[in-house]
Amino acid sequence: MSALIIDGIAEGETFRQLITLLVITVLSQAGSSLVIRYMTSRYNTMRLELNYHYEMALSLKIIEMDYASIEDPETHRLRQKMDEVRNLNDGGIWRLIHSFQDMTKYLFGIVFSVSLTLSLFATHGHSDMTGIYRWVGSPYFAILLGLGILANVMLGMYANATTSQKFLRILSETIQINRLFGYYMTNYLNAYHAGKDIRIYNQQKLIASEARTMFDNAGVTLNKMARNEVKYATMTTISTVLISTLIYLFVGLKALAGMISVGAIVRYVGSINEFTGAFTNFMSQLALLRENNANLKVYFDYLALPSQMYQGTLPVEKRAMCLDGDNEYEIEFRNVSFKYPGSEEYSLRNLSLKFRVGERLAVVGMNGSGKTTFIKLLCRLYDPTEGDILLNGINITKYQYAEYMSIFSVVFQDFKLFSFGLGQNVAATVDYDKASVEAAVTEAGFGERYGQLPDGTETYLYKDFEERGIELSGGEEQKLALARALYKDAPFIILDEPTAALDPVAEFEIYSKFNEIVGGKTAIYISHRLSSCRFCDNIAVFHEGALVQRGSHEALVADADGKYHELWNAQAQYYVD
Ligand code: ADP
Repeated sequence: MSALIIDGIAEGETFRQLITLLVITVLSQAGSSLVIRYMTSRYNTMRLELNYHYEMALSLKIIEMDYASIEDPETHRLRQKMDEVRNLNDGGIWRLIHSFQDMTKYLFGIVFSVSLTLSLFATHGHSDMTGIYRWVGSPYFAILLGLGILANVMLGMYANATTSQKFLRILSETIQINRLFGYYMTNYLNAYHAGKDIRIYNQQKLIASEARTMFDNAGVTLNKMARNEVKYATMTTISTVLISTLIYLFVGLKALAGMISVGAIVRYVGSINEFTGAFTNFMSQLALLRENNANLKVYFDYLALPSQMYQGTLPVEKRAMCLDGDNEYEIEFRNVSFKYPGSEEYSLRNLSLKFRVGERLAVVGMNGSGKTTFIKLLCRLYDPTEGDILLNGINITKYQYAEYMSIFSVVFQDFKLFSFGLGQNVAATVDYDKASVEAAVTEAGFGERYGQLPDGTETYLYKDFEERGIELSGGEEQKLALARALYKDAPFIILDEPTAALDPVAEFEIYSKFNEIVGGKTAIYISHRLSSCRFCDNIAVFHEGALVQRGSHEALVADADGKYHELWNAQAQYYVD
């Protein structure tokens, strides 16, 4: 349009015609900037949506993958790599959309600029031209200029590729810094529980000096990046200046010789520059996309991690699991041995154990003797490395996974409550039955505190999402975790060190009400405090990953050579008869 206007002025067009050209120019500019604005805002919304889908896909994968895979070093590697790819230069899926947007733009640029430029190379001088005009008008000069433009484009591509490769290499030096920094921020400085330790052990200096070192290192890296960019940018600038001079000479002389109009100077110079930029960038994006494939593969490999747990198909008969069922069923561990993923040591060795559904079983033993591992295997959080676990004579892997999981309520030692409403925590669902939540918290011994809460089941735990959220003591948390297990009302209830954080009164209450709390369910009770398990007439003693004794408290304590006797006497000295 600028070219047309200049030509119009040079050729003495009427004022009316010139104004028409001007209006068309301004309107088309305004129109295209409106379209760009609209597309940019759509693009930003779509990026947000993509981000949401991406996070959802990864989160769902974590929830659905085998529990054992979460600990697997390969899973860790893939997750870490995905984070790095994303933080480094918006790679992976993000690179795809950036590149798609950019490449569409460059493609338009290439098509328009080529179609506007081609005619320049088709205009030749007359045979009667002399000197420099004759030279400019010859097709050889046009070919030379074309080659010059291509060389400039290739140099630009090389500079872009090298800069971005070096950029990525330098950036990868910061991975460790970012990882450390993320760790300090999320796990230490922003975790207010850590504030106690930081103050008592005067860790401020330690953390500050680590942070200082990280910042210094990051500064060195940024400097390296800047130097790297300047070097290649200088190279491409020089070559672009040279080639632009040539273009101006070529186009200007052609105009002087009358081969093209004055306005065409603007048009050709503009479109050749546009072509150089668009083509260089287009090719660079293509190269980036190729490199990005390796990053995309990380993402797809992660999503494709297989879930072994979901292969069973049998339904589980839940009625039979309770005392009021026909009670004909039993769980059997047959020669079960287990190593944690990535671990060399066996945490359980040759465990063979049976117990009838409907019974109460206490599992005791020292810390690290394999009690929790036994529960994790029973609940199919892991499958045994060797041996079988049977329910009613059928290997538990044959049952439908979700259905098998639904028969267990477990309070683990390291249970987790969320910063949501109390009701949602206990029910583990969005909608819940208020009366049942209240019954469960009361049964779990949280009734008194619950009575004082102004918002009842709507009360938020902790202050992450709600200022009025309540803080809980360790014992209160444990009571709520117990309430959650009771609310689920599953046929199996398993309490792993359920009273470790409770005060003696609450502990006594839970013990004396244990049978009532557990009702008709099959119950497994784990403790390293032997006095807690006295009431169970079926006690399994674990030691160093093996089952070493089994029987009632009286029988076990009477066996003077047994582990139970030793543990009992070691602990009994702290209690008065
Ligand atoms: P207990 O419940 O009797 O205290 P655990 O069953 O928790 O003992 O642990 C038994 C052994 O397994 C311990 O030696 C412990 O270090 C090891 N262990 C527990 N969890 C893991 C894990 N996720 N990865 C590797 N080893 C583990």
